[in-house]
Amino acid sequence: MPLFDNHGRVINYVRIAVTDRCNLRCFYCMPEKGIQYVPKDDLLTYEELIRLSRLFVSLGVEKIRITGGEPFVRRDMMEFLRSLSQMEGLKQIHITTNGTTTEPLVPELKALGIHSVNLSLDTLDPARFFQITRRDVFPEVMNTFHALIRHGIPTKINAVVMEGKNIEDILPLVELAREHPVSVRFIEEMPFNGEGRLTLDQFWNHRRILDHIRARFPEIEKVPDPPHSTSYNYRIPGFQGNIGLIAAYSRTFCGTCNRIRLTPQGTLKTCLYDDGVFNIKNLMRAGATDEQLTESLVQALNHRAKDGWEAEKNRNFGLPISESMSTIGG
Ligand code: SAM
Ligand code: SF4
Repeated sequence: MPLFDNHGRVINYVRIAVTDRCNLRCFYCMPEKGIQYVPKDDLLTYEELIRLSRLFVSLGVEKIRITGGEPFVRRDMMEFLRSLSQMEGLKQIHITTNGTTTEPLVPELKALGIHSVNLSLDTLDPARFFQITRRDVFPEVMNTFHALIRHGIPTKINAVVMEGKNIEDILPLVELAREHPVSVRFIEEMPFNGEGRLTLDQFWNHRRILDHIRARFPEIEKVPDPPHSTSYNYRIPGFQGNIGLIAAYSRTFCGTCNRIRLTPQGTLKTCLYDDGVFNIKNLMRAGATDEQLTESLVQALNHRAKDGWEAEKNRNFGLPISESMSTIGG
């Protein structure tokens, strides 16, 4: 029984943030001092995550993304991935990671059949990497990148584009796709930095990023976007990989959105920009059956905002947005 929302959109993709903890402090995501982390007891346990994943799969979900925070800072993460990878009916498991501790795990990720890895990398310059992430671990991330390519795991680079921070990195990051079969995706910055701050006067939207790339590579050409894609995709003749632009702030992709999100403490989000529609962990801990969980899920999807603008307007906790992306999962 596939899930649909009140706008007729199929829901077959769940993004699970398994932790809000992280070993980096990317300035667009978290303040330097960090955020108030969720107490460990409040996190969905792995058993609860497996139960929910099984339920989602029984409702037609085909794809699960594991994200965070940094997923690999959660203890026993690989054990969880081993269980998830054996789940009947689950077609694809994807992971988003900052790559700081991932390199030694890559062979097992390959063996488990992880479908793809999104690696966050906003610059190829070690000094700017430090300025952006406030941690000095650029070589570790690059080692992860090369290990992923070596093991043939489909890899996407996620780079948030920010005036005054990494504009000079756009073209070198594009060059990565010349030499490697990698999709380099440039993401518009969103206000999820734990402080609600976003200066829009110098904002780089997807069109501006494309113009910048096109000035250097006039031969860049559009390729078809896969169904439900959040990126506009391009290729440059002669390049092994391709280029994606993610209009995360402009929100031009909402019309085909097929995803819901689960936060580390079990809040279900039917839109990146809402502030959570209900807490499924509390229901489970109160003894809800799978049928009751399904009923709550269906109810939530029957009241889904049509797009991120409407979801933002309807927030219960008001504006400005004050969450960190590490509690949402990107
Ligand atoms: N820690 C992992 C990582 O960095 O890949 C996974 C979680 S992180 C929150 C997921 C994605 O969200 C990353 O690619 C990151 O660049 C992106 N992200 C975080 N804050 C953002 C913001 N304010 N605007 C746009 N993208 C953001
Ligand atoms: Fe950590 Fe990822 Fe947020 Fe950077 S973007 S602080 S790596 S959760």
